[in-house]
Amino acid sequence: MNTRPSTSPAFIGIDIGGTKTFGVTVNENGDLLDERRVPTPKGAAELIATASSIYFQLSENVVQMSPDRFEVQSLGIGIAGLVDIDGQLRRAPNLVEVDGLDMGPILETKLGVPVCIDNDVNCAALAELSDGVAASVKNSLLVTLGTGIGGALIVDGGIHRGAFGMAGEPGHMTVNPHGFLCACGKHGCWEAYASAAGLKNLAIERAQHGQLQEINDKVQGDLNKISSKDVTQAARRGDTQSLEVIDDFSYWIALGLTNCAALLDPELIIIGGGLVEEWDLLGDRIRASFDELLLASTQRNRIPIKPAENGEAAGAIGASLLGRQR
Ligand SMILES: [Zn+2]
Repeated sequence: MNTRPSTSPAFIGIDIGGTKTFGVTVNENGDLLDERRVPTPKGAAELIATASSIYFQLSENVVQMSPDRFEVQSLGIGIAGLVDIDGQLRRAPNLVEVDGLDMGPILETKLGVPVCIDNDVNCAALAELSDGVAASVKNSLLVTLGTGIGGALIVDGGIHRGAFGMAGEPGHMTVNPHGFLCACGKHGCWEAYASAAGLKNLAIERAQHGQLQEINDKVQGDLNKISSKDVTQAARRGDTQSLEVIDDFSYWIALGLTNCAALLDPELIIIGGGLVEEWDLLGDRIRASFDELLLASTQRNRIPIKPAENGEAAGAIGASLLGRQR
């Protein structure tokens, strides 16, 4: 008797970031079957059109993959912003033109499949839980250090979304009320110290005090042109003052992580985002400051701090899981 089902389920996930939109197709085991990558467009109508186009391309491709006879079951979307418990985007500092966009119902009508939407870092955490560094972990925290800071809370083996879906945004915890201006308009957010923007802020402050001559020369005195890469590259060449900025930066990262640990008592902290590329420069420094700053660090279980395992595709793979879980 032939018990083979007539079709195999496939799931599409799309990660909409501030600069790039990345779509994937996975099978029911979560194996990556196909991917698409395009720049994130500006404007709500353009974003709907881009997400639809990626969906159609991926779904057309996957149904032609033999011998599985795939059928797409759902679309999951991870988006960089505050997404409420119903999947509506409420605030997106890096996608300001689509603030408030309720794209789930629009896409469901257009595409004819169930659509689930969540914050991009929650999606990346789902990928780490499913098949990554958090696979056997019940209580953890994923912090992404990129242009800004994103977060996701893993509590009792699942994503903790909070009462209204907006839990896990540690980037806007205030660490210095009179400190650097944050992209959100407040002063002294953790993000203004411990993201790529934070590293730039710390470097500009030093340069204003006559330090970082090598970097100052490179930008010909136009301090706004200093980038986080300028600092990490100068530090790698052994520039002492750049290494001091890296020490400060690592301290600020660790400070926010200890605040998170005070609240959550996680068994693991996972670091994702673009700055993971600098882990060899930052990892040991963050560890040392974290142990110094954490309450009772020698009397409690050691909390490992590890880089995320799923790379660029984490958010999209996690988004595909949203539909699979539903
Ligand atoms: Zn802020």
